[in-house]
Amino acid sequence: MSQLSPMSRRSFLQGMALAGAMSAMSFRPLDAAKSSTVGALAGSAEQAPLFPQAPLTPQLFALLPTGSIKASGWLLRQLQIQASGLGGHLDEFWPIVGPDSGWSGGKGESWEDGPYFLDGLVPLAWQLDSPQLKAKAMRFINWTLDHPWENGMFGPRSNDDWWPRMVMLKVLTQYHELTVDPRVMPLMTRYFHYQLQAMPARPLRDWGRMRWQDELVSVLWLYQHTHDPKLLELAQLLKQQGYDWQGDFARFRFTQKVDADALRKQAGGTDAFMEDIGLQVHGVNNAQALKASPVWSVVSGNATDRDAIHHQLLMLDTYHGLPNGMFSADEHLAGRSPSQGTELCTVVETMFSLELALAITGDAALGDRLERIAFNALPAALTDDMWTHQYNQQPNQVECSLHRQPWTTDGPESNLFGLEPNFRCCTANFHQGWPKFANSLWMATADQGLAAMSYAPCMVKTVVRDVPVVVEQVSDYPFRQTVTITIKPQRALAFPLRLRMPAWSQDTHITVNGKSIKAADGFTTIERTWAPGDVVEVRFNAGVKIEQGYSGALSFSRGALVYVLPIKENWVIWRKRGPTNDWQVYPGSRWNLGIEPDVPVVVSEHPIGEKPFAGVTPAVQLALQGRYVPAWKAEEGNAEPVPAKVEPSNDEPVQAITLVPYAGAKLRITAFPSLS
Ligand SMILES: [Zn+2]
Repeated sequence: MSQLSPMSRRSFLQGMALAGAMSAMSFRPLDAAKSSTVGALAGSAEQAPLFPQAPLTPQLFALLPTGSIKASGWLLRQLQIQASGLGGHLDEFWPIVGPDSGWSGGKGESWEDGPYFLDGLVPLAWQLDSPQLKAKAMRFINWTLDHPWENGMFGPRSNDDWWPRMVMLKVLTQYHELTVDPRVMPLMTRYFHYQLQAMPARPLRDWGRMRWQDELVSVLWLYQHTHDPKLLELAQLLKQQGYDWQGDFARFRFTQKVDADALRKQAGGTDAFMEDIGLQVHGVNNAQALKASPVWSVVSGNATDRDAIHHQLLMLDTYHGLPNGMFSADEHLAGRSPSQGTELCTVVETMFSLELALAITGDAALGDRLERIAFNALPAALTDDMWTHQYNQQPNQVECSLHRQPWTTDGPESNLFGLEPNFRCCTANFHQGWPKFANSLWMATADQGLAAMSYAPCMVKTVVRDVPVVVEQVSDYPFRQTVTITIKPQRALAFPLRLRMPAWSQDTHITVNGKSIKAADGFTTIERTWAPGDVVEVRFNAGVKIEQGYSGALSFSRGALVYVLPIKENWVIWRKRGPTNDWQVYPGSRWNLGIEPDVPVVVSEHPIGEKPFAGVTPAVQLALQGRYVPAWKAEEGNAEPVPAKVEPSNDEPVQAITLVPYAGAKLRITAFPSLS
């Protein structure tokens, strides 16, 4: 099969019978009005973090309103790279989100892409306080808010699919937190009321049915603002019509790389079931589903619901887990071989699910997982300048070409670096990854304190116990292990400060104004009266961890970073795509190395580059030894399975090996054979 157009992708999948088809914040002057048609936006809001109130279930943490956390240091540079790349320019040359988008009143694309793009563009524009990016976002936002249907529906009139609107609702909640635009809540209220009466006759189907939990997040958001009881009715209806992910994972059947024939048998040969099963093993659906049980537990009050995410992750890890923290799905669940792929949409949707689940469950391990994905799998799927991305990334990725690849169902372009390889969803959807991660670094605690949930340089401006508080976090984490946090309440103020303790850190050293504090597992809580300028310093202690994975293969990590063998990359333009290109990448060096046992791993630190994850400036390196394993080869551009047992060949002398952070090596080996 040659290139797949968006439409032919869909029919391709159907052919396989696998498709289914506080204040936010009063500190930030609001200038949305400049680019908006509504002048009433000027001014700022006092938005408190939203904690569920009865009859909803209390939770330990809550996200701060979008805009409360500003990236600094390397994270700010990463956001600037995104804005200088596709993030800030996509609409200028990609017609899907161009002037003719149905989401800005045109006749063009009117489904998920406009909302996907905005889900990242809106938080990015306000993160960078960029008038240009805000104006780009307001083209869509203004049209959407100003053109509701008479019956309460909103969005393009060319379709009435519930699914793309679920994405747009996520956009509108963030936008409201940033601007307090008075048009947002009435539009959402009318839409939800309409849905409540329309859904019995026109129930959720395909994508919307599998992704109901994402709408539930927006429904609960509005409920916490308005306490409209109809919204709880809608929550029940979404759950009732939505797919039962918790039940699916309780009896998890998908323990192998997806095989269309095997699934057809499982479905009893029925096409209707087959379509449903295709959606159940779909990677992005599974990523979004990770939030289903925790989010539903806010309504049900059931701890079993809340904790079901752990079993869900266990099943995905056990049968489809990869060393980069993700599960394989290319585009359906694909087993544990490190030559299988993971779609970029699956990466960013897993991150968003984990950010919400971390708040609801308070389980620090979800933060460890989130960081592993954010600092490895996310930047790995994009070139360092963020002008191209891959649809599928592989942990063992020895070539990115049009050669036949091992995907379950994806097309041959899937691991090229390009504008829209395989299918365009990731082109529109990846933008949410970094801005939402920045927005989830700190959260409010239920006992009116603050918590560091993930670590990266940033500044938090919020209100704690009615007192304005600034928190400044200076750090080169994850490339370095020290985090310095300066607390600046407007006046001396008592509140608990919680710090997530990654499980990989042994003997974490914490000081407050130079005095040691004992670190705890999970979260360390520091209760004290904070004076302006108090300094908390956290020194993590990460050793090199060698994990044994699929087929006994060895993978290396240190702290939140995964380390890989970089393969020399030869980049070849396959075709021009306006201001960017579609690239194939061919290997220019041998990669089939096994690891010498019992050789100590030596860590060295190097300057962090302007592009934090760029392969040319690896900020940390691991030195170890190995030998080439001539029997381990690539077939058609794809690394064969890692050999389980390798006898070292005397023809191949011991080599010094240097491993670098995963994301910078676009060709790499992550899972190595061990030399016996
Ligand atoms: Zn995608």
